[in-house]
Amino acid sequence: MTCTEFLSKLTDYFDGEIDPSLLAEVKAHLGTCHHCEVVVDTTRKTIDVYRGAASYEFPEELANRLRAAVMERCRATGKLPDIKVKGSEKPAGQC
Ligand SMILES: [Zn+2]
Repeated sequence: MTCTEFLSKLTDYFDGEIDPSLLAEVKAHLGTCHHCEVVVDTTRKTIDVYRGAASYEFPEELANRLRAAVMERCRATGKLPDIKVKGSEKPAGQC
């Protein structure tokens, strides 16, 4: 996959509407291309800012249950959930 192909899939990637086989290619590209990694990182931060600006509040109780479910899944599979951004230098296992 080239950077151009990657960028054309970026919206689908963030919408979670990407074909699983394409997702594998996207992730493979992200692992090898620092440029696209930065783009994804920046885009994700931008999305977070917009979401933060919206007046939607995530119920705390639901957030806790989600967190617990994710933690359980992490323990069960022994690895982090699907999406991770390399270069953010988060310690492994912090899921
Ligand atoms: Zn690239």
